Amino acid sequence: MIIILKPGADDSVVDLVVNRIEELGFTPHISRGEYRTIIGAIGEEKPQLNQLVEEITGVERVVSVMKPYKLASREFHPDPSIYNIGKVSIGQGFITIIAGPCVIESKELLHEVAKSVKAAGAGILRGGAFKPRTSPYSFQGLGVEGLKMLREVGDETQIPVVTEVMDPRDVEVVQRYSDIIQVGARNMQNYNLLSEVGKTNKPVFLKRGLAAPIKEWLMSAEYILAGGNHRVILCERGIRTFASETRFTLDISAVPVVKGNSHLPVFIDPSHSSGRRDLIEPLSLAGIAAGADGLMIEVHSCPDKALCDGPQAFPPEAFTKLMQTIGQFAEVMGKVVSSA
Ligand code: PEP
Ligand code: MN
Repeated sequence: MIIILKPGADDSVVDLVVNRIEELGFTPHISRGEYRTIIGAIGEEKPQLNQLVEEITGVERVVSVMKPYKLASREFHPDPSIYNIGKVSIGQGFITIIAGPCVIESKELLHEVAKSVKAAGAGILRGGAFKPRTSPYSFQGLGVEGLKMLREVGDETQIPVVTEVMDPRDVEVVQRYSDIIQVGARNMQNYNLLSEVGKTNKPVFLKRGLAAPIKEWLMSAEYILAGGNHRVILCERGIRTFASETRFTLDISAVPVVKGNSHLPVFIDPSHSSGRRDLIEPLSLAGIAAGADGLMIEVHSCPDKALCDGPQAFPPEAFTKLMQTIGQFAEVMGKVVSSA
């Protein structure tokens, strides 16, 4: 259930509502919009909540959210969410580009990529330290050493960083070194991991599972939001279909579908969805045209020598050119590229 306060209702009204819904056994979630405050009452529906309108002046209406996800829904938060990470903005009105290598190989290489993607206008640097590899014999990442390199390069280059966490036991160390925590496609339904990242105060970049319906993806976001972490960014990274020309199939329609149902920012990942360097540009532009708030693109200074995902890695020069085109597209969409 969602309790919508009248415009201008002050903190005393919020306190009254919070106390009352706690008395009734619900967990309150407060969302302060520009004009009004909305309070989510998380728990099994009870008719007593409807009486709040009569009980407390300052309460405008009580709405029952029929969707299984509540905090992720537009009903709970009618305006699209916007987050600020340092000077970088994510959400409505902005296009934010996350770029960097698939995996952190060395500090030198990461530094080189970081400098070039930042100069090209990227907002966030990516780099994997804990890698979900299909084969146990493939390079698994540098672990904590990689996290330290990522933090150092981010600080030296002045760009926020994102990296993936795969194990609930690593959440603490990943949040210490990273500005954004990534939950990868293979862990979208790792509920222990979701609950753990939900306890942190770092934004979470939640990728869609390889074969996850949109509703289940939003339920995974709900786990994080229900843990008290209000900053979730969704990323469509391709789903499994019978199409074999690409690694996965980028579900472009997911962007407007999710944006219609949820206030959370939505990114697309043209790299992992296609697995093909030659498709990065068309898929990036298609994503922006569909209303995506940003892109995640893998960039490597020497793609042929990359330890992971070389065939889809974009060389820095191509990335710089793409950023110019993205700038033009952003303008057409009435948005600005938010750079670091
Ligand atoms: C990644 O972004 O490094 C990654 C492994 O992506 P995904 O989880 O989408 O496969
Ligand atoms: Mn990769």
